[in-house]
Amino acid sequence: MRYNSSMAIPNTRRFFVPPTSLAGDQVLLQDTELAHQLGKVLRLRPGDQVLLLDGQGTACTVTLTDLGKNHVAGRVEARTAAGGEPTTHITLYMALLRAERFEWVLQKATELGVSAIVPVHFSRSLPGDKAEARKLERWRRIVREAAEQSCRGRLPTVAEPLPFAAACAQASESALHLMLWEGDAQALKTVLHSWQKQTTTGAQCSMLNAQCSMLSGPEGGIAPEELTTAAAHGIIPVSLGPRILRAETAPIAALAALLYELE
Ligand code: SAM
Repeated sequence: MRYNSSMAIPNTRRFFVPPTSLAGDQVLLQDTELAHQLGKVLRLRPGDQVLLLDGQGTACTVTLTDLGKNHVAGRVEARTAAGGEPTTHITLYMALLRAERFEWVLQKATELGVSAIVPVHFSRSLPGDKAEARKLERWRRIVREAAEQSCRGRLPTVAEPLPFAAACAQASESALHLMLWEGDAQALKTVLHSWQKQTTTGAQCSMLNAQCSMLSGPEGGIAPEELTTAAAHGIIPVSLGPRILRAETAPIAALAALLYELE
């Protein structure tokens, strides 16, 4: 195993910060929350080291030089590739669910390696779920904390919620675009194996840095007109088997399977 300086710093001391703050050799962050976390929660002091990540693949080992109530200052000692990323970039187009279930999906999808999450209004999303669209800031914080905890090198994005048809149009731009459907669809495994065969023999796209989009439906399921819209965009419905999974379980099971097959 090759040593790099980022490995000497415990996971609890990894923080995503704005990329511009890591441009030079000196770091100054006006960030009350981070200052509290470092100074009061972790009880770090000047001279201690943290790993600051720009969210775009670079990790900086930083020695703290000053810790105030509202600011953190430090000196960059080393820059390394952050690691921790899958080679397949997966965007999850996730139906809006009840708050705690949706937030659980954000956290687990981030741990597993999702690259982007787009909340989607399906026609059967509960009316109350739609109000959750106002929680973008909270969602991004959940994703950031999960990414720090799971040693991700890049910070997954959380987009503004999209209507279903717009989500299909965007998803269809990926090399592989799937929709989890509890109906009579081909198995995810079958679709993935035939796609892998095409990509390795036909060079439709390289497996390296492949892009995949996956839509996942709400508690009430996917409406027939949504199936029609998805089909018009070439989105492939896929099944996870004969058992109906809860709306928060299905995307996590599918992400695990996708990354297992495509990594
Ligand atoms: N209301 C639907 C019913 O009773 O038939 C079930 C919807 S399910 C709770 C929520 C979503 O999870 C579905 O729309 C689908 O996207 C996904 N899902 C659940 N089980 C699945 C399976 N076996 N295969 C593929 N997707 C599944």
